[in-house]
Amino acid sequence: MIERTKLVHGFSGSVKKVAVVGAGVSGLAAAYKLKSHGLDVMVFEAEGRAGGKLRSVSNDGLIWDEGANTMTESEMEVRSLLDNLGLRKWQQFPISQNKRYIVRNGMPVLIPTNPVALIKSNILSAQSKLQIILEPFLWKKPNFSEVSNDYTQESVGGFFERHFGKEVVDYLIDPFVAGTSGGDPESLSMCHSFPELWNLEKRFGSIIAGAIKSKLSAKRTKSGETKGSSEKKKHQRGSFSFQGGMRTLTDMLCKELGKDELKLKSEVLSLSYNHDEKSAENWLVSYASSHDKHSQDFSFDAVIMTAPLCNVKEMKITKRGTPFPLDFLPEVNYLPLSVLITTFRKENVKRPLEGFGVLVPSKEQKNGLKTLGTLFSSMMFPDRAPSDLYLYTTFIGGSRNRELAKASTDELKQIVKSDLRQLLGAEGEPTYVNHFYWSKAFPLYGHNYDSVLEAIEKMEKNLPGFFYAGNHKGGLSVGKAIASGCKAADLAISYLDSSLSEDKMLKEQPSS
Ligand SMILES: Cc1cc2nc3c(=O)[nH]c(=O)nc-3n(C[C@H](O)[C@H](O)[C@H](O)COP(=O)(O)OP(=O)(O)OC[C@H]3O[C@@H](n4cnc5c(N)ncnc54)[C@H](O)[C@@H]3O)c2cc1C
Repeated sequence: MIERTKLVHGFSGSVKKVAVVGAGVSGLAAAYKLKSHGLDVMVFEAEGRAGGKLRSVSNDGLIWDEGANTMTESEMEVRSLLDNLGLRKWQQFPISQNKRYIVRNGMPVLIPTNPVALIKSNILSAQSKLQIILEPFLWKKPNFSEVSNDYTQESVGGFFERHFGKEVVDYLIDPFVAGTSGGDPESLSMCHSFPELWNLEKRFGSIIAGAIKSKLSAKRTKSGETKGSSEKKKHQRGSFSFQGGMRTLTDMLCKELGKDELKLKSEVLSLSYNHDEKSAENWLVSYASSHDKHSQDFSFDAVIMTAPLCNVKEMKITKRGTPFPLDFLPEVNYLPLSVLITTFRKENVKRPLEGFGVLVPSKEQKNGLKTLGTLFSSMMFPDRAPSDLYLYTTFIGGSRNRELAKASTDELKQIVKSDLRQLLGAEGEPTYVNHFYWSKAFPLYGHNYDSVLEAIEKMEKNLPGFFYAGNHKGGLSVGKAIASGCKAADLAISYLDSSLSEDKMLKEQPSS
């Protein structure tokens, strides 16, 4: 249960109110944090359900996720959230999650997880293996003329090629970025997509040497910390989901909100900022509820916006009665994706693989494969399907194949059948098929992403009490979206605290 730690009162003595736009995981995490702090919150969600890109479905003995399938808890905000919500008991860690596969020459190959396994593996040529081992000595500095004289513009592909060579980009980086962001190594910007590695190069040059040095220094720091954290460390390892799928997390967050604090089917249309010294409420939020076609208004002291920027661009904002045009918001490039759920009878899958899943490099399209990758969902989490079935989650589209993402269920079913037959020996018809299409699955963190972040900063700077959070800022993963929501909540709390002090000062000033 939420512990009301501190109440923030306005000039009138009433509790301050914050509007959160969007009930994806970032908005719900922000609302939870604000509420825990004693503030009043109202979450507006355009859709008839909360969760955004977290979308679990249970049907006929099957459980699957059409959005995010797993998450990690590298971020401190995620660990606190899981603890505070009592979600540890629902956490599900995949069976053999370190067994992940990449397709090479048309067949799945286990990704090596340590140097000895890498040497033994046939995933890369001897030359690439040597290049990885010798990276601390052989890595190349960026060639500025090749990266438009601007190091920050370098692509993910260019960066990894300088360190590990082209084959590593084609067979490890390409499938990884396609599987985690729908993107491709050439379109993605290194500094926005992998800021930690980008900074590692700035500090140490070599990625391998830098990673070893940072790990050793982190170990030294940790060994100074109190013992008894082994349980905590165990939790921090690897990916996980929850019993019932990822929606267990967002359902739990929704449960913490009162009936009137989460407004579903309520699309925010406009926001208006009015500074009135006598009134504590500065923001008017107008939304259209699909129950009654009319728009309605509510007043707030601050706003946390977590709707995707393409939706924000459609909103009308006014500041002290004057329009605040959002024409400076750049067009974000979104990647479409289709998610196909299929189940096969176990006896029809001739070469099932234990583990997390298989990723398909773009180069492998020449071997007839068209999907981006498949998660072995019921291998990871056996409760996701009856014991005589395998449930698979397959992704199609992304920047590799935007058109195919939009294909019909029938066409996609044939593609998935064909790929799974080749990769796992899945024969015959799937016993169940479900298709979900995301027209805007991921924002592409491309080379112009600086302009997106600058525009977000401009909105926050020019609109007092307006904070932006979510996966358009600071990372695409569920963990990063949660951290972003929590950070925005902290900023809103500081803003309200400081406006409270100003209120007080005004009150205490002798009238002249
Ligand atoms: C297919 C897929 C697979 C993924 N797999 C993983 C994975 O395995 N692991 C991982 O870590 N991440 C994964 N991700 C990424 C991750 O799920 C998302 O980045 C994250 O959930 C985004 O959360 P968010 O709150 O920022 O945005 P969203 O979830 O997009 O939430 C924004 C909300 O705002 C609402 N909204 C929009 N406009 C308005 C308006 N005008 N008024 C009111 N509400 C509005 C939307 O309806 C939506 O509910 C995946 C994403 C997809 C699409």
